[in-house]
Amino acid sequence: MFKLASILSLCLVSMALIAQSSTDPYFTTYHVAGKVHMLQSPDAGGNIGVFSGDDGVLLIDDRFDRETPALLESVSAISDEDIRFSVNTHIHPDHIGGNNNLAAHGVLILAHDSVRLRMLKELIIPRRGGITFPQPPEQARPVLTYSEAISFHLNGEEVRVFLAPPAHTDGDSFVYFMGSDVLHLGDVFRTNMYPIIDKLNGGSFLGMIEAMDIAIGMAGPDTKVIPGHGVGFTDREGMVEVHTLLITLRDRVQELIDSGSSLDEVLAAKPTADLDGRWGQVPSWTAADVLPIVYDELTQ
Ligand SMILES: [Zn+2]
Repeated sequence: MFKLASILSLCLVSMALIAQSSTDPYFTTYHVAGKVHMLQSPDAGGNIGVFSGDDGVLLIDDRFDRETPALLESVSAISDEDIRFSVNTHIHPDHIGGNNNLAAHGVLILAHDSVRLRMLKELIIPRRGGITFPQPPEQARPVLTYSEAISFHLNGEEVRVFLAPPAHTDGDSFVYFMGSDVLHLGDVFRTNMYPIIDKLNGGSFLGMIEAMDIAIGMAGPDTKVIPGHGVGFTDREGMVEVHTLLITLRDRVQELIDSGSSLDEVLAAKPTADLDGRWGQVPSWTAADVLPIVYDELTQ
């Protein structure tokens, strides 16, 4: 089991790369509910779940490798216990990049089967038509994978990890902290931009609606929800807002398809003009990226 001091000393070089002062931690820490905290990076992406108690710490996602020192510093402010597990919600580099550093010190990495398979080659993300990343080292691969669902029994509660329908990718894990009543939905759920459906890694727009139906169906009035990207955590209402967005995208594109519009005509009709101010402000993923995916699926 690794000790914070040893990993911190190994990471001094990368630590120097991270602008940080003692009064201004790199990650913003939120107490979500019960035994769950959330760490948010300055770009509000790859939000990390931290589940802590007497048995140790379990992380949900671990950002980029250069951020590991800051991650460890923020975790140590929450708990004195060792990090024992890290769950990767999906394959993207901003969620798995810390695996190598953590695994080097005995942290067990868990993910869906598909995440491990996709780590056997170079990684690709869907922005700007497809950006590639080097294949992660062998040590960064999950040592424990599952096909449908798996549970941790830790810190006096059950943590249920289960496969969502193909949505953001084809290996999206949802995580439910049953005692704390907190959901971490990975990048299936973003509160700050249009949904990213990563077709290059098996994602599906209609599957994303199905996945959000499942998450909303699980949530009670007090359930708190950590988004993969977006500022802070939210609740059932926040999920319903995103679900409404998905349904609106589907119905508006379907209406144009029914009237005989080609993809170019759909784009020219600007069916999301009233939504772009709220959801379409990230330059690398706008309505022009998401509408063709919706169109393709609805015309298949
Ligand atoms: Zn992602």
